[in-house]
Amino acid sequence: MDIKTVYAKLTFLANNIIESNVFYGMSKEDKINFYNAAGKAVEKQMPKKPKLQSETDGDCPICNAPVRKYADHWCYNCGQKLDWEA
Ligand SMILES: [Zn+2]
Repeated sequence: MDIKTVYAKLTFLANNIIESNVFYGMSKEDKINFYNAAGKAVEKQMPKKPKLQSETDGDCPICNAPVRKYADHWCYNCGQKLDWEA
């Protein structure tokens, strides 16, 4: 299952479960916090292009940490997956 499908299914689950009585003992606020955290984790696995400063160096598109093309597939600071393809 690719990451976009995972994200779509997570969103579907969130929309259907938050308002339901599934997961007794979990408040609506807990469910929203859980899905927000899960959504952020999944979003970071969707590759984003770095802000290029040169052919081999750039900045993370999320947190602006410096990242290097041949060393970093993920931002070391925030965990964002990076897409170095032109
Ligand atoms: Zn980052």
